Amino acid sequence: MKKIQMVDLKGQYEGIKNQVNTSISEVLDSTAFINGPQVHAFQKELEEYLGVKHVIPCANGTDALQICMMGLRLEPGDEVITADFTFAATVEVIALLNLTPVLVDVEIDTFNIDISAIEKAITPKTKAIVPVHLFGQCANMDAIMELAEKHNLYVIEDNAQAIGATHTFQNGKKQKAGAMGHVASTSFFPSKNLGCYGDGGAIFTNDDDLAHTIRGIVNHGMYKRYHHDVVGVNSRLDSMQAAILRAKLPNLDVYNEKRREAAKKYSKFFEGEPNIVTPKMVSGCEGICDSCDCHVFHQYTLRVLNEKRDKLAQHLNENGVPCGVYYPIPLHKQKAYVDERYKEEDFPVTNKLVEEVISLPMHTELDDEQIEFITKLVIEFINK
Ligand SMILES: *Cc1c(COP(=O)(O)O)cnc(C)c1O
Repeated sequence: MKKIQMVDLKGQYEGIKNQVNTSISEVLDSTAFINGPQVHAFQKELEEYLGVKHVIPCANGTDALQICMMGLRLEPGDEVITADFTFAATVEVIALLNLTPVLVDVEIDTFNIDISAIEKAITPKTKAIVPVHLFGQCANMDAIMELAEKHNLYVIEDNAQAIGATHTFQNGKKQKAGAMGHVASTSFFPSKNLGCYGDGGAIFTNDDDLAHTIRGIVNHGMYKRYHHDVVGVNSRLDSMQAAILRAKLPNLDVYNEKRREAAKKYSKFFEGEPNIVTPKMVSGCEGICDSCDCHVFHQYTLRVLNEKRDKLAQHLNENGVPCGVYYPIPLHKQKAYVDERYKEEDFPVTNKLVEEVISLPMHTELDDEQIEFITKLVIEFINK
């Protein structure tokens, strides 16, 4: 059996080596390392893939989120609601801009932001909601867009983990993750579903004015050369990374399908296990049909119900199976983000999930033998 890895970037690279190496050589030959033609071409290709009017590439997913908020002209004191159970980048940029983060609980079955918790948290100061499409599945965008409209709020999708995922609205309309809110951010960090070989990110929007504003912000607030109209940042996707992403984008659906296949196999093995809860697929066809693209499994995350999560993680590691706990501490308990407004009883689900969740190896190169080995190891240990 091949050595099991949490993500297998090498194995994936082998499959596209020729294209990637050729594209990198082209950039080297052109020496257009910044804002080269590859960046513009990638932007156009991603716009087409996502069905959004504007993609604005930038340096990483954290910058992308920050720039979304700068572009919307959010101001100090404005409240921004986001999930307590996510990667810290989401809340970090809110705090960095002197906006007021308002963390709320998530749903037990999807791990995504809880709609009733958002509703409870809305005040006259609330300006935006940041749903994170956690682990590869869209948050409940029907309800979120409805709430946003009712209360006149912006929706900023944090799409770092769900590029290529689709949300099916109640009226049957399908849209790609990142194309639904007023603006969205994504990350091309190497281990993300569409990863480059360094740092990268992008902002998406269908709003022409916002896109124009943001294009200036990413470039030092400059709309005309050496005229700085607003305070901006320097945040660029470099040509080398764009070239790599161009080689990978045509494979994104196949990569996501491979992840989904691996997830389905895992879940099949775990069926009927009393101490394990497998991830739920919510949208559209519940993942039954072959072409379902509702969940792109950035992570395959189980809940372990019999308090053996930490011991299981250790057991897996001792047997050559890497695993991860995303995330071990709720954001409202992180030193940087504690706030007296938070009450423990407002976060029953996140407080529980941080004790129960474990993510198993998930990537495009997992084979049946590896999946069987991992699931057997988990099941044996959990029932011992
Ligand atoms: C990875 C990630 C980010 C940040 O992306 P970087 O490119 O690492 O800055 C933001 N939000 C979520 C949910 C992420 O998973």
